[in-house]
Amino acid sequence: LADSIGWKLENSYATLPELLFTFINPTPVRAPKLNKLNHKLAETLGLNGAALESEAGIRILAGNSIPEGGLPLAQAYAGHQFGHFTKLGDGRALLLGEQITPNGKRVDIQLKGSGPTPYSRRGDGRAALGPMLREYIISEAMYALGIPTTRALAVVTTGESVWRREEEIGAVLTRVADSHLRVGTFQYAANWGTKEELRALSDYAIARHYPEFIHNENPYLAFLEGVISRQARTVASWQLVGFIHGVMNTDNMTISGETIDYGPCAFMDTYNLATVFSSIDTEGRYAYGNQPRMAAWDLARFAEALLPLIDEEEDRAIKQAEEAIGQFGKLYQKHWLGGMRRKLGLFNEEVEDLELIQKLLSMMQQYKADYTGTFIALTTETLEDTVLGGTSEFVEWFKLYKARRTRQQKTKEEVYTLMKEHNPSIIPRNHLVEEALEAAVKEGNYEPMERLLKVLSKPYSYLEEQKKYNSLPGPSVCPYRTFC
Ligand code: AMP
Ligand code: MG
Ligand code: MG
Repeated sequence: LADSIGWKLENSYATLPELLFTFINPTPVRAPKLNKLNHKLAETLGLNGAALESEAGIRILAGNSIPEGGLPLAQAYAGHQFGHFTKLGDGRALLLGEQITPNGKRVDIQLKGSGPTPYSRRGDGRAALGPMLREYIISEAMYALGIPTTRALAVVTTGESVWRREEEIGAVLTRVADSHLRVGTFQYAANWGTKEELRALSDYAIARHYPEFIHNENPYLAFLEGVISRQARTVASWQLVGFIHGVMNTDNMTISGETIDYGPCAFMDTYNLATVFSSIDTEGRYAYGNQPRMAAWDLARFAEALLPLIDEEEDRAIKQAEEAIGQFGKLYQKHWLGGMRRKLGLFNEEVEDLELIQKLLSMMQQYKADYTGTFIALTTETLEDTVLGGTSEFVEWFKLYKARRTRQQKTKEEVYTLMKEHNPSIIPRNHLVEEALEAAVKEGNYEPMERLLKVLSKPYSYLEEQKKYNSLPGPSVCPYRTFC
């Protein structure tokens, strides 16, 4: 029966220098039970949903058996955590291998919560149901929003308890990613490996994610530039939807450009550059408004790790790396400004656009306007219902905006179509996610979560049933806090 699931696993990562990983099997769990399966994703991976749901299928998703071709290993990596450099690694996750999809794509299959590894430090190697379902909901919402992200294939419960702030239900998430290579993987190789080991890792990453650079004159510099470019786009797309990652340590920044690590992340309701949700981010290092700057900081650490490969001579390597890092701001701004223009239904470019956009955002900050809601209101012409709508500043701004729009030769229909394609009609608001998780985890009632997932899967469709999901939390709700 296990054969009919469709697993086609290889583990190319295992061909890399041993320094970079440790072979280790998942620790079997007592009573695996499937809680959530992503049927659509399974299909694109070439997996049979019904077979995944069978006992043999679930045993694999729980780590109780290894599918053919799987070769479980824990990846080693390092990371700057809130600025401090540390040796890390998969402390509660294992790479089973890479699934070769029907389209010939190679994607990592990782079990998260699969038991202790040599990199676990003081952790138990396990995961709790609530956070794994939360990762499922938010990463799938990000995917639907069109943002590069890891995906969630399944969540199984283990029949065992885990201890966090209280006793919780144990769970394992199956995560799918273009790869789990991180900035921190390169920092690990640069610090504890030889130059040849660093080169082997870099060649692997280039072949897998940037094959267009293999024959480049300086493939390692091109690789650095490629990662900078993808991350600039990813982080700009976060800013445009109000996503706050929460823990942008170098071990949580991928080489592929995918968003990874959905621990303390959350979406912003009222617009405020200082927004922080993570309970451990006491200084606001990873606040909403700081994300682009912190991404550039992380990428500078990536550049440092690659220096020996960029040029034999250190001074020349540093100069080239600095130039590459210097491009981040421009690339980021290009994506962000382009995205903001589309959110406002602007097709062409005018130099004053930035000022027009900044004015709108400052008004949102001043009047504590809901970020997503304001853009929905602009898109659906319902601003009178919002806090901003009635202010004299907004009335003035709207005149400028309307004049700006009439200066482009576009029909009203074209403008509103563009706006609908770039302003989500729904985001996974914190209070909604919490309600859905509470029902699932505390009562075993998955209906609210299923309903939420369904509306989140079509974020640009302006469906009638999405309207009620845009109500804001009542004033009685405490400031939202997230935990790693
Ligand atoms: P994160 O803050 O999620 O990026 O994780 C940082 C490091 O802590 C990584 O090396 C994780 O594998 C490790 N880690 C997180 N939770 C656990 C846990 N429950 N047991 C073991 N290691 C963990
Ligand atoms: Mg992490
Ligand atoms: Mg995490």
